[in-house]
Amino acid sequence: MKKVIISFLTVFLFLGVTQELTSQRNLKILNTIILDAGHGGKDPGAIGVNKSYEKDLNLKITFKVKELLENNYRDLNVILTRSDDTFIELQERGRIANESGGNLFVSIHCNSKKLDDPEEKTGFEMYILDPKRLDRHFDLTLNQNLYLSDIKRSTEDSVINTIKASSFIFSNYKYEERMAKILIKEFVKETGLTNRGIKQEPFVVLYGASMPAVLIECGFLSNQSDEAYLNSEKGQNDVANAIYKSIRFYKTEYDFENNFYR
Ligand SMILES: [Zn+2]
Repeated sequence: MKKVIISFLTVFLFLGVTQELTSQRNLKILNTIILDAGHGGKDPGAIGVNKSYEKDLNLKITFKVKELLENNYRDLNVILTRSDDTFIELQERGRIANESGGNLFVSIHCNSKKLDDPEEKTGFEMYILDPKRLDRHFDLTLNQNLYLSDIKRSTEDSVINTIKASSFIFSNYKYEERMAKILIKEFVKETGLTNRGIKQEPFVVLYGASMPAVLIECGFLSNQSDEAYLNSEKGQNDVANAIYKSIRFYKTEYDFENNFYR
């Protein structure tokens, strides 16, 4: 009987050790972040009341986030979809993200209200794709013949892409919503900007990435005070800090959840 118990214990121990080794080998951690500075080159994005260009501010903030991440993580790949004033197609941004094996896609933008909008708008917003509005996404994807990978442009492929897109949208939603909520919290803590909440719009750039993707509108360049803040060193540092801290928080949760609750 004693022998049997010992054999059982040995088997259990052995299984435990192998499982431990296996899980160490299969550690699923967030190791590649894609930072996407919106617009660039011939596309200036929004132009501020005091003539600042959105594309320049997006890039400055992106560089600061990259620096913060690289200074604080040794093994994190930080991939930029553009690192200078170049025009990059929206689909190309997604392709870069997918080919780099990104775990999280963060698109950085600044907003502007429409010229004929009488309401003064100020503050930050976070955008994600809403799976409940897939019909809108379908229309958009089919009409614009979008790529989700480097499949050839054809109607048939668009349908395949749309199906792929819908499955990404469903499986990523939980993570996107979580990241958007963290971003809101950190922006409130780190910046002097107004919180306009989480919004859901079918932004083309969010489709291209097969990983969880969020788009940040940091503030309104059509608003004098938002523009001055986003143009200042302090404003850019605050916003970059908020994005960096959000990624850090999200990564800690993600790594823990994927390795201890599987
Ligand atoms: Zn923009």
